[in-house]
Amino acid sequence: MRSRFAFAAVATLALATSATATPLQVAASFLPIAAHVAAVAGDKAMVTTLCPAGGDPHDFTPTPNAYRNLAAADLLVVNGFGVEEWLTMAQAKLAGNRKSHILDLSHVPALLAARTQGELIATQDGNPHAWLDPVLAQEQVKAIRDMLKQLDPADAPAFEANAAAYLAQLAALDADFRALFASLPASRKELFTLHDAFPWFASRYGLHYLGCVDTFPERDPGPQRIAALIGKLRAAHVGTVFAESGYSPKLLNQIATESGAVVTELDTLEVAEEGPVGADAYLIRMRANLETLRKVWTMPSK
Ligand SMILES: [Zn+2]
Repeated sequence: MRSRFAFAAVATLALATSATATPLQVAASFLPIAAHVAAVAGDKAMVTTLCPAGGDPHDFTPTPNAYRNLAAADLLVVNGFGVEEWLTMAQAKLAGNRKSHILDLSHVPALLAARTQGELIATQDGNPHAWLDPVLAQEQVKAIRDMLKQLDPADAPAFEANAAAYLAQLAALDADFRALFASLPASRKELFTLHDAFPWFASRYGLHYLGCVDTFPERDPGPQRIAALIGKLRAAHVGTVFAESGYSPKLLNQIATESGAVVTELDTLEVAEEGPVGADAYLIRMRANLETLRKVWTMPSK
């Protein structure tokens, strides 16, 4: 497993010698953001993920030691949209540090526009899961590229080349999702998940997002809401509902059993208990989701 703050010793060394002689130190809040940064940075920066493997970015809180290490980083990259509840505290702690920069990807114009101009769906107001939309992921990557170029102009050509290659792979991923969903009738594209991670994704690809067990992982809804969800799934003849890696599927299993659906798993890329965590983690995990949906939605109806 990677160390949460592998850069700490190097950052201390940088302060003792020359800041320009060492690669950029970049902290990313959780897995998909760290993957994007690592893909663009290549070998020109040291990238660490604040939320540890198995941690949940929805309720992650950096330790005092993490804040000390954050202060040594040149750049902190966050998803934003409120998922990093600790961000305000981090901003306050880093306010006097001229070396540190914070890139909040929710401030990227394309993401703000998707949110505020109604390109996507209204029900996701307050929903932070923008990274699960491969189109918006490309906008996140462009912003990361531009920030790295700004902080390290000498390595700008490498950041440009790395980003171009990575953006092409994200575009191919998007094209493959589009091709799959275009081949399916609307009646197959019914998405019901454990928590509310997929409205951006569903909206991007014209899927019908039926909903989720609850908007907070592992906070159980009451019996009335459970009964309503079962009724909703039965009415829509939903054959498969989606659990999520890292979260207990107990309640989802109950709802599936009572509604006649089977349970399989999608990856929100939030809880990296297992699987890739490096620069290729986003692409590998999203392609696994693509194949899961292909398998589930192209198999013959019951
Ligand atoms: Zn989530």
